[in-house]
Amino acid sequence: MYPFTLPSGLPCALRELTGAEEELLTNAKLLRTGEAINQVLRNCLVSLGDKTDVSMSEVLDLLAGDRLFILVKLRQISLGDEMTLRLTCPNTNCQGINLVPINLEDLPVTPYPTEREFTCTLPSSGQVVRFGYLDGHKEKRLAALPEATIAQGMLIRILDIDGTAPNKKTVTEMSLKDCQALRQAMLAVDGGVETTVDTTCEQCGQPIRARVEGDAGFFFPSGH
Ligand SMILES: [Zn+2]
Repeated sequence: MYPFTLPSGLPCALRELTGAEEELLTNAKLLRTGEAINQVLRNCLVSLGDKTDVSMSEVLDLLAGDRLFILVKLRQISLGDEMTLRLTCPNTNCQGINLVPINLEDLPVTPYPTEREFTCTLPSSGQVVRFGYLDGHKEKRLAALPEATIAQGMLIRILDIDGTAPNKKTVTEMSLKDCQALRQAMLAVDGGVETTVDTTCEQCGQPIRARVEGDAGFFFPSGH
C-alpha cells in the first residue's frame, strides 16, 4: 500500500495496478466514456480520507487535479517513475518521431486552496461570475460531448453570472477580453499535477505539446 496526500489535501492510499485494471485500460469503449479511468481509480483507492471502502460517487466527487494526480501515482508505483514519450511531429511535411524521456516524480504539483468557490468580475461587461472546480462528475459530462472545447470546459465550471445560471451561449458570446480574464481566474486557482510537456521537433523545430497521460507508454511501456 502506498500513502499519498492529494493536491486537495485529502490523504489516500493506493495499490498497484493488476491485470483487471489492464483490461479496463485497453477497453476502447470504456476509455472513451471515462468509465475505465473511474473504475481504475475506484479499484486502486485502498482508502480515501477516513474511508476504506471507496464508492464510485466518492471517486466522481474528487477534483480533477486529484484524479490526475492519482493516475500519475498509479503509473509510478506500478511501472516506475521513468517513461519515454513518443511524440509524432504535427508538421505534416515532417511527421518525425521524437523520443522525450520524462521522470514522473519531477512533474510539478500545485495544492488546491481551501476555498471551493470563487468570483471573477469580468473587465468588459462588469458582470460577476461565480465558479467552482472541475470534478469527476463534470469530467464525465464533458466526455459525453461529441467534442469538448475549452469553452465547454469553462462553462461547466460556472455556477452563475450575476446570480443567473449559465447557458450554452454564456461563454461563446462573451467578449474575448472577458473570456480570457475568466480563463486566467480559473487557471490561477487550479490545483493538481502539471502533465503538459512542451518540446520542439528535433528534425524541423516545430513546437510540440503533449500530455504525459495521453502517451501510449503511460500505462503500456512495452507497447512502443
Ligand atoms: Zn518535425
